[in-house]
Amino acid sequence: MFQAQIFTLYPEIFPGPLAKGLYGKALKNKLWNLNVINIRDAATDKHKTVDDTPYGGGTGMLLKADVLANSIDKNVKKGDKIFYLSPKGKKFDQKLAQDISKKKSISLICGHFEGVDERVLTTRNIEEISIGDYVLSGGETAALVVLDSILRLLPGVLGNNKSSIEETFENSLLEYPQYTKPQIWEKKTVPEVLLSGDHSKIKDWRLSQSEAITRDRRPDLWQKYKKD
Ligand code: SAH
Repeated sequence: MFQAQIFTLYPEIFPGPLAKGLYGKALKNKLWNLNVINIRDAATDKHKTVDDTPYGGGTGMLLKADVLANSIDKNVKKGDKIFYLSPKGKKFDQKLAQDISKKKSISLICGHFEGVDERVLTTRNIEEISIGDYVLSGGETAALVVLDSILRLLPGVLGNNKSSIEETFENSLLEYPQYTKPQIWEKKTVPEVLLSGDHSKIKDWRLSQSEAITRDRRPDLWQKYKKD
C-alpha cells in the first residue's frame, strides 16, 4: 500500500478531493493511505507557536525550524523521502510523478506564511518541489496536486491501466482531441476517421493531431519529442 504523509497547519483540508470517486474507493480498498499531521502539535510553548519573524528583517513570518523538525522526527521513518512544496523547488512533472508512484511512501511538507527556516531543509535532507511558476498562499493545494497526479499511477486505482499510458506528457506529446456521442452536435460532426473502424488509420490520425497540437502549443515539449 502506498503511504502518503502530509505535514500541514490546516489538517482539515485533507483528504478533500482525494476522498472522492476512484481515489476514495482506492482509499477504502487500502490501495493507498493518508496520514495527516498537524505541525502545530509539535509546538512546545503554551501558545503553540509555529512561526516567527525572519532574521535580517523583511515582511511575513517563517515556520520555525525546531517545531517543524520536531514534527518530522516524530513521524517520518528513517530513509523515507521528504518533499517540501515550494515555488523555489525543482519543477514537478509527470516523470517525477511516475518515479514517486513506484516508491512505498512519500512525505509532503506544506509551508505557509513566507516559508520555512532553511536549516530544516538541509538537516533533514528535504527536496523542494514546485508545481509551477506562481506563488500560492500555502503548500496544501500544491500537495493535493502532487498527490492527485501520483495516485492515478498506482496499480489498480484507475481500473484501466492503459488510460494513463496514452495520456498527455507520457510520451512528451499532448493528447489528441476526443469526441463522444452525439455524433452531430450543434451541426458539428466528429472527424470521419474516428467512425471508420480502421484502427491503424485512427492511430495515425491521433498521432498526427498530437504532433500538430504539441508543435503549436508547446515548442519546449516538441523539441524534446523530436530528440527522443
Ligand atoms: N516567500 C516564498 C513564498 C512563500 S509562499 C518565496 O518567495 O519563495 C507560501 C507557501 O506556499 C510556501 O511555503 C509553499 O509551501 C507554498 N507554495 C507557494 N507557491 C508554490 C508553488 N509554486 N509550488 C509549491 N508550493 C508553493
